[in-house]
Amino acid sequence: MKKLFLIIGAPGSGKTTDAELIAANHNTITHYSTGDMFRAEVASGSERGALIDSYVSKGNLVPIEIVIETIVGAIKNAPTDVVVIDGYPRSGEQMTELDKYLETEPEVTLVSVIEVAVSRETAFQRVLGRAADAEVVRADDNEEVFLNRMKLFTDPLADIQAFYTEKNLLKQISGEGTIEAIVAEMDAFIQSKI
Ligand code: ADP
Repeated sequence: MKKLFLIIGAPGSGKTTDAELIAANHNTITHYSTGDMFRAEVASGSERGALIDSYVSKGNLVPIEIVIETIVGAIKNAPTDVVVIDGYPRSGEQMTELDKYLETEPEVTLVSVIEVAVSRETAFQRVLGRAADAEVVRADDNEEVFLNRMKLFTDPLADIQAFYTEKNLLKQISGEGTIEAIVAEMDAFIQSKI
């Protein structure tokens, strides 16, 4: 039986960093980041990667079929029972597609959707600050693409929150504190659920 945790949050919320650190603390947890999986596919030079890049580089959502294939593949191939995926769902459609998948897959249970909440200001500072400091700058960490990523994150958020609140699965954590404090809170929450 696989136990799935999803982490959502604005660009710059720290969701990938937090989840990576938690997975590093426990060999019983596998973490995948949708953004990292897509960037790996782009870096592989495949045709599929080139298609994905045409969306990621503009901050647009990768087409639903590719996203579903990617996350279902990750869940199935995960070497542990506890699987943490950050960056999903990012639309109402992704949310309902996952719901349908879970209905047909008794071996996978969605345990919680964790939202790492930060202000728009914090998100902006972190992403554009990260771009200014980085040795290798992400192609999508510029102001124009950031604003698009932020809009695409914000538009469906209320629906996503309502959907998982109704199912009693939404957990909100503030992403404004130190990484240590946020990771400690999220880690304790995950441990309390497995
Ligand atoms: P951020 O959350 O900071 O925008 P990510 O690394 O999580 O960064 O995602 C980078 C890009 O990857 C997104 O802008 C989008 O193009 C693509 N992507 C990530 N997750 C998804 C998803 N669930 N559905 C569609 N596209 C996605």
